[in-house]
Amino acid sequence: MRNTQHQPSQQRSCTPYNVESWGNGYFTANEKGHLCVLPEKKEIGPRIDFMEVIKEIQEQGIPFPTVIRFHDILRAQVQLLNITFANTITEHGYQGRFYGVYPIKVNQMREVVEEIIDAGGPFDHGLEAGSKSELLACLAYNDNSNSLTILNGYKDEDYIRLALLGRKLGRKIIIVVESFSEFEMIIRLSKEMQADPLIGIRTKLSVKGRGRWAGSSGDRAKFGLTCSEIVEGVELLQRNGMTNCLKLLHFHVGSQIPDIRIVKEAVTEAGRIYANLAQSGIIIDYFDVGGGLGIDYDGSKSTGDSSRNYTLAEYSADIVSGLQQICDEMNVPHPHIVSESGRYITAHHSCVVTNVINTIHQASNPCKTTVKEDEHVLLGNMRESAEHLKLENCQEIFNDIQQIKEDTIAAFRLGVICLVERAKIETLYWLIINRIDTMLADLDFIPEEMQQIKELKASQYLCNFSVFQSAADTWAISQILPIMPLLRLDEEPSERCSLADITCDSDGKITRFIAKDGYDQSLLLHTLQPDEDYFIGLFLTGAYQDVMGDMHNLFGRLNEVHIYCDDDDPNDFYIEEVIRGTSSQQVLATMQYSPEIMARSIKTQIDLQIKQGTVLPREGVGLIDFYESCLQGYTYLNI
Ligand SMILES: *Cc1c(COP(=O)(O)O)cnc(C)c1O
Repeated sequence: MRNTQHQPSQQRSCTPYNVESWGNGYFTANEKGHLCVLPEKKEIGPRIDFMEVIKEIQEQGIPFPTVIRFHDILRAQVQLLNITFANTITEHGYQGRFYGVYPIKVNQMREVVEEIIDAGGPFDHGLEAGSKSELLACLAYNDNSNSLTILNGYKDEDYIRLALLGRKLGRKIIIVVESFSEFEMIIRLSKEMQADPLIGIRTKLSVKGRGRWAGSSGDRAKFGLTCSEIVEGVELLQRNGMTNCLKLLHFHVGSQIPDIRIVKEAVTEAGRIYANLAQSGIIIDYFDVGGGLGIDYDGSKSTGDSSRNYTLAEYSADIVSGLQQICDEMNVPHPHIVSESGRYITAHHSCVVTNVINTIHQASNPCKTTVKEDEHVLLGNMRESAEHLKLENCQEIFNDIQQIKEDTIAAFRLGVICLVERAKIETLYWLIINRIDTMLADLDFIPEEMQQIKELKASQYLCNFSVFQSAADTWAISQILPIMPLLRLDEEPSERCSLADITCDSDGKITRFIAKDGYDQSLLLHTLQPDEDYFIGLFLTGAYQDVMGDMHNLFGRLNEVHIYCDDDDPNDFYIEEVIRGTSSQQVLATMQYSPEIMARSIKTQIDLQIKQGTVLPREGVGLIDFYESCLQGYTYLNI
C-alpha cells in the first residue's frame, strides 16, 4: 500500500477489492470515492454513480436491501458473446454461424428474459427451457422465428405437445432427447398432432467436467444418451422416415467450467460423433456446446472453483477451431454453433445493495480489572502476561494467553472461577491481543501463527440482508462473491470485518472474501461514522443467486430497482422500474398461513383486553392497525 501514494486516489482505493479483475471493465471509482458503473466500459462514456442511485432510491422511499439491475450491462454481455463468436468465425473462415440461446433457469425474471431477447434480436439470440413452465414462458416471449428455442430436461407428453404447438406457430423449437424413451414419445405425438418436429440429442460425453458441476457429465451423468443409444435412436428415426428431423447435437459438461482443457476435450469428443454421423449421411445442422462459460468471481484467472483460466475470446476460438479441424479432416460440412451460456450473460448486471446497521466488536465493552485479594491463579497469570508483554516475547505471550483463555472456560464450567473473574480475564485477553496487534504493525515479517491475530480481532459488521435469500451459493457451495463498499473509496479502509446477516442462523454470515493472493476470512472496510449510512454491494449476483434465494426466517424477495443509462440525464441514468419485494403477508401466505385469520385473531385478543379494561379502546385500535401495517410491510429491518 505504502508505495502507491503517487497514483491517483481512485486507483489506490479500489485495489483492496480487486474490481479490475472481476468487474469485466464495468466498475470504477470516481473522484468522490464512490463506486461507479461504466455501462459502456469506457472511461469517457456515461458513468453511473452508485451513491446517486442510492439517493434516488431513498427519495422514492424504497427501503434496503435492494437489488439493483443495470440493464445496459445485460445488453452489453449479450452483444459481447455474439460479436466475439461472430468475429472468431470470420477470422477462421468457419462456414457455419453462431446462435446463442439463453437458458432461462439462470435468471427467470421476465424483465431479464425480455431484455436479453431484445438485445439479442439482431443476432437471433434464442431461449433454452428445462421444464414445462420454462417452456410456457419461452413460447410466449421469444417470437423471433429465426432464433432457436432449445428444450432440455426430462419430458412428459404435455411438454412435447407444447413443443409441437410451437412448431405450428412456425418457431424453430428443438426438442433435445435426454433419455431414450423420449424418441418414441416424440415420434408418436408428432404423428398424432401432424406436426413436424425438430429433434436434438444430448450426448453423454466421457469427458468429465471439473469444479462443482462435474456431475453433469461423465458416464454416470443423469442426462444424455450413450453412443449405443445414439446409434439405436438414429435407426429408430430412419425406420420412421424422420432422419431429416434430427437437427442438433448437444452436450453440457457442467456450469462454471474452470479449465479450458475440459472445453477442448468435450468439443473434440462431440465433434467426432457429429462427423461420424455426417459421414454416414446424417447431416446435423447445429452443434450445441451447452453452457459452462465461466465467470472470474475471485479475479484470480485460475482453475479454482470460483474462477476460470480462459477468456471469452479463447473459449470461442477453441470451440470454432477445434470443430473446424475435425470437420475438415473428416471432410464433412461445418455445422452452426450453438451456445447456451447463461451465467456469462447475467452475472454482472445485478448486485445487492445493503446498509451496515451495527458493528459487533470483540472487545467493545471491557470491564474493570482491578485486583482483588485471593483472586484465581488464571486471572493472576493473565495479569502477569499483560505486564510482561514486549515485542521480543509477544509470540510466547500469545501462546500463553490462548491456553489461559481455554483453561478459563473449562474452569468456569466447573464452577471454579466466577462470572466476574471470567469477565476480567476476557478483558485482559483482548487488551493483550490489541497491544500485540499494534506491535506487529511495525514488523516486516509476521510469523504465520501470529497471522491469526488479524482474524481474531476482526469485527462483525451486521448487514440488513439474508445470506440465504441474496447469496445462497456463498452458503450452499462456498461460492465466492465480490463484496465491497460503495463509498469512501478514496480513504484507506482500516477495519477488519466479517459480515453477519440478520437471520437467526449462525450460518448467516460471510467469512470468505477475495484477497489479493487467495482468500481471507475477513474484509477490510471503513470504520463506521455515526452520521453516515455505510453501503456495501454484493456483486455478480445476476446468475442463479437472484432466483435461488430461500425464505429462511421468512425474509422474502428483495426490492428491485431497474436502471437504464441515459447520457442526456445529469446523472447519466434513470430508474425505469421499481419492483417491490415480498411483504410479510405474502411470505407467510406461501407457507400456508392466512394473514386475514392472523389479523382477525389479534383483533379478537385485543378486543378482549379492551373489554377487560386493560387496554384503552383508542390504544387497542392503534395496536391492531400497527399489526396489520407490519403484515403489509417489507420483511427486512426498517432502518
Ligand atoms: C444450466 C444449464 C446451462 C447454463 O449453464 P451456464 O454455465 O450458466 O452458462 C446451459 N445448458 C444446460 C443444459 C443447463 O442445464
